[in-house]
Amino acid sequence: MSERILYTKPSITELEASYAADAAANGWGARCYDYIDRFERGFKAHLGSEFAIATSSCTGAMHMGLAALGVGHGDEVVLADTNWIATVAPVVQLGATPVLVDILPDTWCVDPGEVERHITPRTRAIIATHLYGNLCDMDALLDIGRRTGVPVVEDAAEAIGSVWHGRRAGCMGLFGTFSFHGTKTLTTGEGGMLVTNDRALYERVLTLSNHGRRPGNARAFWPEAVGFKYKMSNIQAAIGCAQLERIDELVGRKREILASYKGHLAGLPGIAMNPEHEGTTNGAWMPTVVFNGASGVTRAALEQTFEAANIDARVFFHPLSSLPMFESRPQNTRAWSIPGRAINLPSYHDMTDAQIGRVASALIATARSGQPRRAAAVSDYEPSFLHAGTP
Ligand SMILES: *Cc1c(COP(=O)(O)O)cnc(C)c1O
Repeated sequence: MSERILYTKPSITELEASYAADAAANGWGARCYDYIDRFERGFKAHLGSEFAIATSSCTGAMHMGLAALGVGHGDEVVLADTNWIATVAPVVQLGATPVLVDILPDTWCVDPGEVERHITPRTRAIIATHLYGNLCDMDALLDIGRRTGVPVVEDAAEAIGSVWHGRRAGCMGLFGTFSFHGTKTLTTGEGGMLVTNDRALYERVLTLSNHGRRPGNARAFWPEAVGFKYKMSNIQAAIGCAQLERIDELVGRKREILASYKGHLAGLPGIAMNPEHEGTTNGAWMPTVVFNGASGVTRAALEQTFEAANIDARVFFHPLSSLPMFESRPQNTRAWSIPGRAINLPSYHDMTDAQIGRVASALIATARSGQPRRAAAVSDYEPSFLHAGTP
């Protein structure tokens, strides 16, 4: 049996190891923030944003950013139904109500028309998640934000390297959040970052991130609010500094892998992959294939073929509104139908061309064996399916 192809694996070189070893040996006492400061400075410079705060996760960064906006009980936050749970969890934890809306057919990101339709006097924020490296329509979302006075914030966890008409993902909204989890393009093991160009918001988050202690307060150990403890360690930041020095290489390889898949699959009818619209750059975090409803190709068939070929198959995000803790919204027809005929493809830095070819062959084989069916595919999440018991 050929070696298993994992869907993700970080690229760690001697540079990361040497910085981490230095932080472990010397990054204490007076130097305990050196790598954190350096990582924040470097990250700001890379993005072109004014302020950055390193965190223990993207989830924590989003939690603090929304808290700094004053999101709380009685408020609504609009976001795409297609999202990782990490994006919506802070909304719920702050006591606000998530309003889960449908996605666009090509980018699989939030549909601005749907966002606008769901704005109410209670809406406190719009979260734009750049899914799999694909960019939200930021012009439309920022325009809605301007007209309604509702801040747009970005979950750019999957979008390092993505650029919208000259502006990098994460620094277009009031704030942006990033993840450096082990599966992401740039990793620190666990970690995240909040970036913003808004000084007042930055200062609020900085205070919240330090257990409510205002920087520069002459009175030591004096919290002025109940805050959070979502900090990155100096050792994690050291790994981040090394990864950041290699960011062009890391993103470049992601883009190369996506392009290679597109080349292999160019002849396959009825599929869509991560788009790159004019004027944008896709950071290509996770190459993804969506089969059209008429192809007959299902997630189950894809999972089966991939397993037989010893390849990791990662499922497209389940709609949040299909999960037991949220109100069901099957009217979000794209968010509900796409996952049943889609798959995320392996894309780690050191993948070989032969491995990319193996994955492409598995896809082509599944497509050939697909049974054409009626175009309006039955969603895996429709209540009739969920309650039907075993097929
Ligand atoms: C990975 C991810 C997160 C969570 O990041 P953590 O650092 O694990 O908290 C949030 N949103 C999206 C879209 C992600 O992909």
